Amino acid sequence: EHYNVEQKIEEFIAKVEAKNPNEPEFIQAVKEVAVTVIPFISTREKYNGMKLLERMAEPERVIIFRVPWVDDKGEIQVNRGFRIQMNSAIGPYKGGIRFHPTVNLSVLKFLAFEQVFKNSLTTLPMGGGKGGADFDPQGKSDMEVMRFCQSFMTELCRHIGPETDVPAGDIGVGAREIGYLFGQYKRIRNEFTGVLTGKGIAYGGSLIRPEATGYGVVYFVEQMLKTIGTDIKGKTATVSGFGNVAWGVIKKWDELGGKVLTISGPDGYIYDKDGITGEKINYLLELRASGNNRAEDYVKAYPSAEFHAGKRPWDVKCDVAIPSATQNELDLEDAKILVANGVSCVVEAANMPSTLDAINYFLDNKVLFSPGKASNAGGVATSGLEMTQNSIRLNWSSEEVDARLKEIMIGIHKACRDYGKEEDGYVNYVKGANIAGFVKVAEAMLAQGVV
Ligand code: GLU
Repeated sequence: EHYNVEQKIEEFIAKVEAKNPNEPEFIQAVKEVAVTVIPFISTREKYNGMKLLERMAEPERVIIFRVPWVDDKGEIQVNRGFRIQMNSAIGPYKGGIRFHPTVNLSVLKFLAFEQVFKNSLTTLPMGGGKGGADFDPQGKSDMEVMRFCQSFMTELCRHIGPETDVPAGDIGVGAREIGYLFGQYKRIRNEFTGVLTGKGIAYGGSLIRPEATGYGVVYFVEQMLKTIGTDIKGKTATVSGFGNVAWGVIKKWDELGGKVLTISGPDGYIYDKDGITGEKINYLLELRASGNNRAEDYVKAYPSAEFHAGKRPWDVKCDVAIPSATQNELDLEDAKILVANGVSCVVEAANMPSTLDAINYFLDNKVLFSPGKASNAGGVATSGLEMTQNSIRLNWSSEEVDARLKEIMIGIHKACRDYGKEEDGYVNYVKGANIAGFVKVAEAMLAQGVV
């Protein structure tokens, strides 16, 4: 029986690998799900033989398009745009848009695949999708970014809609880009609708959406710590990145009495032994607003902090590590150092920041480890709340949105526990998140026929 399941997993992965050559990130995300979900499927008669996971690993639709635009020098530039419409079993496709030079089909398929499970975990009616372009907003002028967004949306607008596919931000796509994208959609379609989330407050955005991913991560950690009888007060955290997600994490961690020791950029990380707190958090916002992503500048403003060029912050001793930058930023070597330094929780705020080896090392050492699809779901959950507010044409107060966000994160934590608790009481959040996310989508797909 056991041998049988192992073999099923191997055969499944081999098939996905054969179908998707040169897509390492996508294969990585599918593997992580397959090893936890296939054993579960094999214990459930109604799921057996229905090829549910195989269907979920095949996007319903992939759109790839040319994005031509004119730069400030009058030269023509050509980028590649994508939208992956992964799964619509439980609601319209939903997921962010990423503008970054590393964007390719593999990266967006991994993100879209994870999004399906993540969105299911929120309990809101959202399918999964992801999009983006290999465009680098760094160093571009405001008008260049605008022209790029307009060209991108000129094609994308025929594939999306409030009942079809609702994109949002991700790396390189923030409030400014969402504004330009929304403006272009509205012009072409002559429709003012909730077709994007992460909008500005003046035109249908939700309060708390910018902070939501980070806040949600911290609400999730609160629940994890509760299971081991403790809380955030006085706990140290190491955080990578200093984008939107990291900023929300730092703000809430500080508010709840914890101490954040690090942030990082592509240039290296800074270590502030006094904690990143109070006005330093506002300074991070200013740094970001200036379009600068160099962590080193923090040390110029706060010289008591140390800058470590070209390094990631995982060698700093901490209670909780919160990778909040990008995929595969924490590998086996980092995991070994974290465990040797006595980390109690590793909580992913980015999407797939840990390699498979690193994840297995944490699980083998019984470190509480939460995958991004569970702990960072507060961002898309609040996008779902933005969609609701747009549909009922009302705006909720920040207290109301925050309370719903917190309730959703508590629910996700409980779902992970219910499906991830092992015989010795240890909670495998990877298994829990994958199975809980899978069940709702699987039920909907079964009910809808061979789709
Ligand atoms: N890009 C975010 C994520 O990875 C948010 C997506 C959304 O709000 O639709 O979940």
